[in-house]
Amino acid sequence: MSKHVVILGAGYAGLRALHELQKEDQEIKITLIDQNDYHFEATAIHEVAAGIQTSERITYPIEDVVKKSCTTFIQATVEKVDSSKQVVCLKDREEVSYDYLIVALGYESESFGIKGVEEFSLKMVDIPTSEKVYQHLVQQMENYKETKDENNLKIVVCGAGFTGIELLGSLVEGKKKLADIAGVSPDKIQLYCVEAVTRLLPMFSEKLGDYGIRHLKDWGVKFLLGKPIKEIKQDTVVYLDNQETNELAELKAKTIIWTTGVSGSHVVGDSGFSEKRGRVMVKADLTDSEHNNVYIIGDCSAVMDKETNRPYPTTAQIALKMGAHAGKNIKAQIKGQSTTEFSFRSQGSVASIGNSHAFGVVGKKEIKGYPASVIKKVILDRSLLETGGVKEMLAKGRFDFYH
Ligand code: NAD
Repeated sequence: MSKHVVILGAGYAGLRALHELQKEDQEIKITLIDQNDYHFEATAIHEVAAGIQTSERITYPIEDVVKKSCTTFIQATVEKVDSSKQVVCLKDREEVSYDYLIVALGYESESFGIKGVEEFSLKMVDIPTSEKVYQHLVQQMENYKETKDENNLKIVVCGAGFTGIELLGSLVEGKKKLADIAGVSPDKIQLYCVEAVTRLLPMFSEKLGDYGIRHLKDWGVKFLLGKPIKEIKQDTVVYLDNQETNELAELKAKTIIWTTGVSGSHVVGDSGFSEKRGRVMVKADLTDSEHNNVYIIGDCSAVMDKETNRPYPTTAQIALKMGAHAGKNIKAQIKGQSTTEFSFRSQGSVASIGNSHAFGVVGKKEIKGYPASVIKKVILDRSLLETGGVKEMLAKGRFDFYH
């Protein structure tokens, strides 16, 4: 009898696993479950938030990559996994049983319990929240025409991690369009970034990180570094201004975007897996420590980097690799073979600052400027190829560097 593999989540990890499993000629029945009927390029949502890209450009229908002969797609919200009964509980639908399970439910915004974050700041984690950021920005520009209140033109990005920096780059690029709506010159749109630490982007050398920050500063972004945010109030970011005296200060703005880090899906904790901030320390073959038929991959998973003795950072690159590996291991298990250990060597990472600038590391080489932005587009195209195949890459890929 054919085995039933259930994949939760159609992000980078889930779709890459699907691709691997659908290649198999032996009989495997697959069910893919996601709350949306589309896949989105999570590494490009900041462009939608800043209004420089439409959501259509960074999404494609999940049905496009489903091989109907072996896979069923269910659009539903996963509530929890009951691993003792080997079933997945869905909202308003019947539960689904599995022989093998892949949990690839991705990330959520992390507030770290800071007061007011949920009520008074905007998240940017998926398509609806990114579209909401842009709609909010447009509304503020419209409001400015009535109020002439400069706070309508102020945007604060909270946190200068990879996400915050890439968002700031896109906002610099989107300023002109926003300024046109408000009827002001682009330099009137004020961009701020409030960040807890002073050494930014620890995955890059200090010199390379400084390159990116310097560019953003030259383009008018004001950085408040070493200023941990303590509270968000209505139209106000409250931060620690002086660590010695504990003095607080406030920054007023009508747009406050929260990008201080992420945790894995809450479903992981709700299902009783042993987790920390939604991430499960999986075994070397990517299975849960207590269930060798449950794979936990992507942003819900923590895999130890033996070199640094810390878990690898969550990136699209590692999620894709984990997806492929989990798919291969399940195929081996079904054939009665043993699983293999996951190994990962980062090929580097590149942060975009707008459409034609970027900086980062490829292999061991540091790259920056326009050439880096070309590499960034090639990386995006490759991830589209790995999850969506040639069709999606040709339809949604970035080829604007060929002139
Ligand atoms: P992050 O954890 O990398 O960065 C968050 C930043 O917010 C940090 O600089 C942190 O010091 C700051 N911060 C935290 N709490 C704060 C507070 N109270 N006040 C002020 N600042 C505060 O988070 P991220 O940028 O959302 O990225 C999440 C993960 O996704 C990371 O592993 C990142 O590398 C990855 N990512 C990768 C890419 C890519 O490869 N293209 C793009 C985006 C994100």
